[in-house]
Amino acid sequence: MMSKTHLAVGVAACLAAAPATVEGLSYALMGGAVGSLICDIDRSSERTSRDIKQGWALAFTVFFAGFMHESYTYWQTFKAEHLLSDPLKLVCLGSLLVLYLFAISGAHRGFSHSLLLCVGSAVLIYFLSKQTCLFYLIGFLMHLLLDVLNKKPVRVLFPARGICLGWFYADGLANRILLLLGLSASAGLLMVKFQVYGNILQVVR
Ligand SMILES: [Zn+2]
Repeated sequence: MMSKTHLAVGVAACLAAAPATVEGLSYALMGGAVGSLICDIDRSSERTSRDIKQGWALAFTVFFAGFMHESYTYWQTFKAEHLLSDPLKLVCLGSLLVLYLFAISGAHRGFSHSLLLCVGSAVLIYFLSKQTCLFYLIGFLMHLLLDVLNKKPVRVLFPARGICLGWFYADGLANRILLLLGLSASAGLLMVKFQVYGNILQVVR
């Protein structure tokens, strides 16, 4: 599927799993934005691809929308020396970069689209940001699920050979339908969960 579809469906799945709190929804947006598109870093050589550019621009917007809520607390407490003096976090960050670099250098839908990278990177992200980890994982798994529906094999069980159901073309009608469903579900879930959050606040008060 195309980038916008991955983003819309991945974020919708994360919002569905998120608790009805502003904090929960913020982390869902942040984790979902990164997790649902990170597999396609193996397409970074396609610098002229409009799909990639639009996908990452939208993912950054969604990430920032989630980050807006957490940013105040984050920058209040963030100190570079905290990261530099935390060997575990440094090792995790370095290992994550190595994993992503390995994914970039591989063929499309190879290691970058594997459960190995999915689980490996999610574990590292857990040590960097516990609250985002689950949503990153959901976004990543949704990306793999959507790509398996296509006609080009995906090496989900890397290093084993790729698999695919061969049902749809990545840029065909199914892609457009899933994009619409993902967008509607994301908008609907955001409205419903904020409404639930508002009702809970009223009860508490
Ligand atoms: Zn993909």
